[in-house]
Amino acid sequence: MMMLTTSSYAKDAIKNEWLGNKIGITDDVPEPFAPIEISNKSIRLWKKEFLLSARASVFDNINILGKQFLSGPVEVKPYNKKVLTPLRSSETWRKNSLSSFHFIKKTFYEGFILENTVKVEYDGFVSVTTNIIPEKQIELTHLSIEIPIKKSFATLYSHYFLGTPLEVRKVFGNKNDFKGYLMPDKDIAFEFSPAVWIGNEEMGIEWFSDTNAGWILENKEKAIEIIAGKENTTLKINLIYKSTSLKQAFVFHWGIMPTPVKPFPDLKNYIQLYTAQEDSAEHIINKWLFPIDKEYSKLDEAAKTGLKSILIHQLWNEFPGYPGTFDEKKKALLKKVVNEAHKRGLKVILYIGKDMPVDSPEGKKMMKSFIKEPSHIRKRKALRKYKSFTTDANRFYNDFLIYKVKILIDEFNIDGIMLDGHNMVVPCINQRHGHGTKINGTVIPVYPISETRELMKRLYWLFHVYKQNGIIIAHAETPFLPSLSFADLRWVGEGLVWRWRNQYSASENKPITQLLPLEEFRGIYAGYNLGIPLIFLAKPKVGPMIAKDRISSISLIHGVLPRFQYPPLTCPEKCDDQDKIIWEIYRNWLDMSENGKWEFYPYWNNKGPLKMLAPNNNAKLSYHYNDKKDEAVLYISNFDLKDTRAVVSVNGKDGDNWICSPITDTLCKINKNQLEVALKAMGYGVIKIRKAAKLL
Ligand SMILES: [Zn+2]
Repeated sequence: MMMLTTSSYAKDAIKNEWLGNKIGITDDVPEPFAPIEISNKSIRLWKKEFLLSARASVFDNINILGKQFLSGPVEVKPYNKKVLTPLRSSETWRKNSLSSFHFIKKTFYEGFILENTVKVEYDGFVSVTTNIIPEKQIELTHLSIEIPIKKSFATLYSHYFLGTPLEVRKVFGNKNDFKGYLMPDKDIAFEFSPAVWIGNEEMGIEWFSDTNAGWILENKEKAIEIIAGKENTTLKINLIYKSTSLKQAFVFHWGIMPTPVKPFPDLKNYIQLYTAQEDSAEHIINKWLFPIDKEYSKLDEAAKTGLKSILIHQLWNEFPGYPGTFDEKKKALLKKVVNEAHKRGLKVILYIGKDMPVDSPEGKKMMKSFIKEPSHIRKRKALRKYKSFTTDANRFYNDFLIYKVKILIDEFNIDGIMLDGHNMVVPCINQRHGHGTKINGTVIPVYPISETRELMKRLYWLFHVYKQNGIIIAHAETPFLPSLSFADLRWVGEGLVWRWRNQYSASENKPITQLLPLEEFRGIYAGYNLGIPLIFLAKPKVGPMIAKDRISSISLIHGVLPRFQYPPLTCPEKCDDQDKIIWEIYRNWLDMSENGKWEFYPYWNNKGPLKMLAPNNNAKLSYHYNDKKDEAVLYISNFDLKDTRAVVSVNGKDGDNWICSPITDTLCKINKNQLEVALKAMGYGVIKIRKAAKLL
């Protein structure tokens, strides 16, 4: 049985100049990834090593950041009531390059061969095709992928969508919500999820599959199990879990990806991903280029403050979301903005939607080939008259988008793109572009994780090889890591709005941690364990639970910068106190990034030169520390309904004289080596402390 139907491609896919282009399909290994190194024993990548063996396993172990992550091999195990014993195994190496390595592991059993065809890519993406080849009719009760993880590395897990997009909820119901949890000390089971991640605050592993078409299960609630052992936690994926007779070959596609996928940028590189934003090139020219006087514009001011990039949002072209413009005036405005920005050392990033406008040339000609099905029409607030349909990653859209983005680089010299939702992998049954598998009259949807990865990989090539030092911002709540390795930054946080609307009334005022538990933030968002930096968005005009100060309180203690809709630079007239605080913190981080190395000490360790004393469970401290300068920047949040007083010990010698100066409106007092901070109910404080000259 095959997973994808490839026979029914669109009849309206008449030849287009972009269809079938090969842009970005290369063996190049872009920065910051490293080429693959292979020995008889292992496949080595950046901070990761896959151990090979002569046994039946796919991998004997996986080392991440120099630590052995698994407590046993990654295996596909066949059972007939009890686990079957292999007769022998063989491993054949196939074509390999600096960017990928292929091998086939065949394991011979009585009456059948289990064949795993494995491809490892330079970012740690492993795709596997498991093929059961019977020599006669065979009986199986169970076929599972088993990944045993050392218990100390398996403290958090997450699966499926956080805040399922409205379009998905309407069609597939509301219970599939990507969520993160603390790992319980008991077995858990759930139905198919296209991605499951298990790990801790430093590292982890994601398992994924594009579809569960063909899985044979007695009970669909037991498609995926997490088994709590004494020394290990085993992720068990049940491809077959029912008495089954097989006569013909049986194929499953799946994959794994250890995390972090790439090095997390240091403060200097992270802070450079922050952007200011304007709706259109025209607005930038009118408001930013000559608002003060012709000699000194706001764009100059932006460059002077250290800002490195500006984002032009939905109105840069005539079709919101479309990756191009046909309007000569808009072309000229865009060229002018890029030119003026580059003169000042600023990069220009363009907004691109995951949709095809009805009136665009391609939309008019072949809409049905592009769209995700069930289809979803999108009307934008800014330009309601423009309708578009939501697309997904597929052979038409991928070729189209790559081709068009390359033109944006060639014609306008843009430096990056912000992708609105492309990395949110949603289920699709559009068989015109090969999505969905018909089984007994029902079309089983595809979650195009692999094709989304291909799309992102090709875009990454455009902005990191073809044009270097570009920026790809993935606006996506969901950590589908195979595609997110090729994003420079994630924009998250809007999913909280959906979750909040589903669970609370507009006026309710509870701690934000009820909506987004801290362990969930650590698992899904924090970034270090996944290897992808992020910016947390706050939406204006929402209820108190997810207002700007609450977003800052949860975001900053994870070392993540929040971003409000309009950073203050671009809208002094619309800015409130919270905007100004974040701008101040941003500028402080810029300043810090120019002044030595700042280590981030997160609250979940409560270790290092500063410690929360007698910690109130709802008050958390994280901080940046520079030991060369004896300076720290503290982020303290109170997730309690009452005011509280936090006491922090500052490691130092008697006679040290520390000085505290808050960035937020927070009272702080420092006496010898003890810092006292007054925190309002559900409030937060950002405080700088430094060692003054010694008292004599
Ligand atoms: Zn599709």
